[in-house]
Formats: sequence, C-alpha cells, structure tokens
Amino acid sequence: MCSEFDIIRRYFKRPATSAVLGIGDDAALIASTSQTELAISTDTLVCGKHFFADADPFKLGYKSLAVNLSDMAAMGAKPRWVLLALTLPEELVKHSETWLSEFSAGFFALAQQHHVELIGGDTTSGPLNIGVQIVGEVDAGKALRRSGAQLGDDIWISGQIGDAALALNHELRRITLQSSELEQCLPALLTPTARIELGQRLIGLAHSAIDISDGLMADLGHILTNSEQAACIHIAAIPSSPTLKRYLHQSLAIQCLLAGGDDYELCFTAPKMNRGKIEALAIELAIPLTCIGEIVSGKGLVVQDAEGNAITLETKGYDHFSA
Ligand code: ADP
Ligand code: MG
Repeated sequence: MCSEFDIIRRYFKRPATSAVLGIGDDAALIASTSQTELAISTDTLVCGKHFFADADPFKLGYKSLAVNLSDMAAMGAKPRWVLLALTLPEELVKHSETWLSEFSAGFFALAQQHHVELIGGDTTSGPLNIGVQIVGEVDAGKALRRSGAQLGDDIWISGQIGDAALALNHELRRITLQSSELEQCLPALLTPTARIELGQRLIGLAHSAIDISDGLMADLGHILTNSEQAACIHIAAIPSSPTLKRYLHQSLAIQCLLAGGDDYELCFTAPKMNRGKIEALAIELAIPLTCIGEIVSGKGLVVQDAEGNAITLETKGYDHFSA
C-alpha cells in the first residue's frame, strides 16, 4: 500500500515555481517583502485518528493550534495569523452548548499567548474535523529547513520525547501505566508545547530543523533524505521522562521513544563549534537541549543501543496509510 509520503510524492509534489520553498518542509516559504518571507503550513486533526470523540474540548482547541505553531517553530518563524476550518457534527452543535465555548477558549488561550490572530476559516457540518492553516514571518533567507544538515553536525533534540505515545498506548490499553504515571505523561499528549522561541533562536546556530510530529526516526529521516546525509544516534542519549525510562525494557516503550510521535519537540542539527552556544541557549530558555548523535557518511539512520548494536524497529513513525 502507498504511504502518506508516497501519495504526496506521486500525486502532489511539484517543483516550486514562484514560492521560495514549496512542498517538502514543515512550511512553505513565500517572499513577502525584500526582507521578509511568509512561512505557511496546515495541519488537520481528525476525530478517531488524532483524538478521541470524548476529548476535552478546551484541550482540543489548544492542541489544534499547538501542532500548527510547532511547524512555525521548526522553520524558525514567528507565528502571526491563523485560519480555522471546522467540520462539526450537527448533534454536537445541538446537544453540547459548552463544547464550542470550551474549544474556542482553548484555541484562543494559546493564540493570545503567542499574539497570533485568527483571521478566517470555514464552518461546515459533518464528522468532527479541525483544520488549521498558519502563517508566520521569518527574515528572508534565514528560515530553518530540513535540507541543511551537513556531515559532522551534532543532532540535538529539545525537551524529552515518548510520553505522548506512552499515554496514547495506555488509552488504547496496549500498556498499563499507574495513575500517577499517566497523569505525568498525559499533558504531552493533550496540551503539547510548541518550541516557538527556541526555533527563532536557533537561526544562525542550526543547519537544519524539523518538529517531531510523526516520531523521531521518521522525522530525523526527513532531515536526512532532504539533506542527502546519514546519521548515527544513541538510544541512551535520547532524553525521556522517568516514567518512560521505567518501561524501556518493553519493546512498546522503545517504539514510543523512537517512533511514537505527537511530541512536538524540535530535532535540529548544528555544527560542533556551536555546542557551547546551544548549551547556553538551553540554560537561558530553560529548555533541555540534548545531543543524541551526529551526521555521518553513509546511508540512512542507525540507532545504537548501549553496546553499540543497531536497533531495528517494525515502524519508524506514524503513517496514516501504513498497515
Ligand atoms: P508536517 O508533519 O510537518 O506537518 P507532513 O509530513 O505532513 O509535514 O508533510 C510533508 C510535506 O508535504 C509538507 O511540506 C506538506 O506541506 C506537504 N504536503 C502534505 N500533504 C500534501 C498535499 N496533499 N498536497 C501538497 N503538499 C502536501
Ligand atoms: Mg512538522
């Protein structure tokens, strides 16, 4: 069967003609003034795929914006404007008066935090589906791209990863977390933090960047493909929560860490000479930044265990159309 990326490549990917950067990165870039480019991106949340039908509407409104802000962070862009395309089941509108007020409150709580303005959208009836388009600004020629990784670059990730997937697997009854553990992991799944300020501050320090939405291996894989590079990373170096570490003897938790997705942390590559500056930035922003490996010669992505053996996984990340 076709993967999500095969579909995009086969049917939709065309070379950019008037855009500065077209299909294939976290956002497209369009020249706006001689000094500024617009970064434009869209992400959809589908009921039953990205969230459960009984999801808390405030948190859903918050997350639907957060996942889009995250693509701006990955480009180093400052988010400015959003459009909201809502498809709402008629029963939900008729029978749940509070749903829309809570959803919009969650959406605007995050929008206000980042001074992002809702400028339009679309409202239709049908199965619940939330589409957000986002527009940001970035200095011309400065945006972080997936394609800039260079041989010898360090590979970094922000924060810690794997908790969102661990919480989801608990909800799907594939693993059983204790209630305190679930409480600790759930915010990563329900109200992720987009690394907006970090993304902007990485301009001039990082050679490439992506946000981890589909899983570390898949998303770092996009940097490698777009940059025509290879990488070696070390599982022991990947930052994770005490809860996830407790379950790492189970293959499901390893899968969550390496390929879980829904993390919305940044993965970026930077020359070794910038290590000191990146460590100082981590302290200044109070965001952990961890070097997990490097860009090497060869092909593909190798993940090594503590003994230096390569780890293989069944799937490298979330794909809407894989089995
Ligand atoms: P992200 O995970 O950052 O949201 P995706 O992996 O979903 O990005 O998409 C990869 C690239 O393909 C992006 O540049 C996106 O804009 C583009 N893309 C996805 N679907 C389509 C489509 N149907 N038509 C054109 N471009 C698409
Ligand atoms: Mg992205």
